[in-house]
Amino acid sequence: GSGPLALLGPAPGAPSCPHGPALLFVKTSQGKEEGRRFYACSACRDRKDCNFFQWEDEKVSEIRLAAREEYNRNHQPPFTHRQNVDRYKNFVLLPLSKRRFCQECQQLLLPEEWEKHSDHQFLCDITTVQLESPSQLLYPLENKKTNAQYLFADRSCQFLLNLLIDLGFRRVLSVGTPRLHEMIQSRASQEEEFRVRSLLLDIDFRYSQFYTEDEFCHYNMFNHHFFGGEAARETCRKFLYEENGERVIMVTDPPFGGLVEALASSFKKLMAMWKETEKEGHDNKEMPMFWIFPYFFESRILDFFPSLSMMDYQVDYDNHALYKHGKTGRRQSPVRIFTNLTPSMIVLPEEEGYRFCTVCQRYVSSGNQHCEICNSCTSKDGRRWKHCVLCKKCVKPSWFHCNNCNCCTLQKHNCEKTDVGCFVCGKAGHKRSACPSLSRS
Ligand code: SAH
Ligand code: ZN
Ligand code: ZN
Ligand code: ZN
Ligand code: ZN
Repeated sequence: GSGPLALLGPAPGAPSCPHGPALLFVKTSQGKEEGRRFYACSACRDRKDCNFFQWEDEKVSEIRLAAREEYNRNHQPPFTHRQNVDRYKNFVLLPLSKRRFCQECQQLLLPEEWEKHSDHQFLCDITTVQLESPSQLLYPLENKKTNAQYLFADRSCQFLLNLLIDLGFRRVLSVGTPRLHEMIQSRASQEEEFRVRSLLLDIDFRYSQFYTEDEFCHYNMFNHHFFGGEAARETCRKFLYEENGERVIMVTDPPFGGLVEALASSFKKLMAMWKETEKEGHDNKEMPMFWIFPYFFESRILDFFPSLSMMDYQVDYDNHALYKHGKTGRRQSPVRIFTNLTPSMIVLPEEEGYRFCTVCQRYVSSGNQHCEICNSCTSKDGRRWKHCVLCKKCVKPSWFHCNNCNCCTLQKHNCEKTDVGCFVCGKAGHKRSACPSLSRS
């Protein structure tokens, strides 16, 4: 249908699809709710990936409920996490020549299973190093709407890890950051004095082949659903408990396909979990967090987390056609770190073109000029922005002030304003299917 959707959020008693409790949505028009509310899958934006749908006020028959339960059961992965852990133990005992990984099924194979996969492509001689870097072995999921995996470039991943270490954190709750998790895990196994630990929460169950239940939880960050039930929840809770003064930080790099409110609601629940672990309640402090997301979501994110501020650091990706750091100088990545830590503590590398602004008390891109009128370093994208006296703020260098629209915008624009904002980025002028923030590759 037409018209943007509004998320009404996780609802108590919501029905479940294979991805856990569904979320409640409603169609809107001119910012007003219109029509019947309905439940849809929390994880999949594309009906092709999960076609779960139910009207909020729909009466579902016992027969359909039973069929749905069976469907949900049948759509769980073929092996449980426990089984995968046992399989891994057997796999590492095999001589190199017998270690195969099926590329079609994305699965480590035991010799008795070779037969079944005989006409599949496979990799052989899987080394320990390969097992320690599953994000290199597994192909990145590429479904744009549902589960696009954009893996950190080594440089950005190193930067993040070193920053966390310098800030004194010893535990990282890695929510949708498998590459950061694996960097931590492999350093921990290689360096004796490396004390950082990580717990990966991710919806990509393929990772359960490589990590124990203490290292990976199958988790949906759009509805805060632990697929492993209470035991997995408890693993997470234990991990958040700061024993021996080992400080915890949460790092997350969610898919950009919208639903900021759903993410925020889950992150608040993770924060609450952290808070509950400490009897003193952490003196009203929030769990430290890095939320990695494009800069054009800044206002949406701040709506939910006023304590966060956006850093200028540009996060680069490996398998990202547009945002990767090229050989001939860098392409500009729109992805930033949002954090509730004091900005002045986030030291950005001078050799990559960042400098400290003493007025703003934070590191900024070298092109980000301090505006005397705004009294801040206003650029969001690293380029020098210009101040518009009519808008009373700094704007992109390519924008000009349109007297018709009464604001700064692109030279080429349609003055007949569309006042309904895009569902994804909240900006006017396009629908979510055409949202520029979604065209990442
Ligand atoms: N840059 C990160 C990867 C970010 S890609 C890194 O290199 O480590 C987004 C990640 O979120 C992927 O790992 C993907 O599997 C995960 N993800 C996508 N949808 C999710 C969901 N609903 N719940 C939990 N994790 C999800
Ligand atoms: Zn679903
Ligand atoms: Zn400044
Ligand atoms: Zn200004
Ligand atoms: Zn203006």
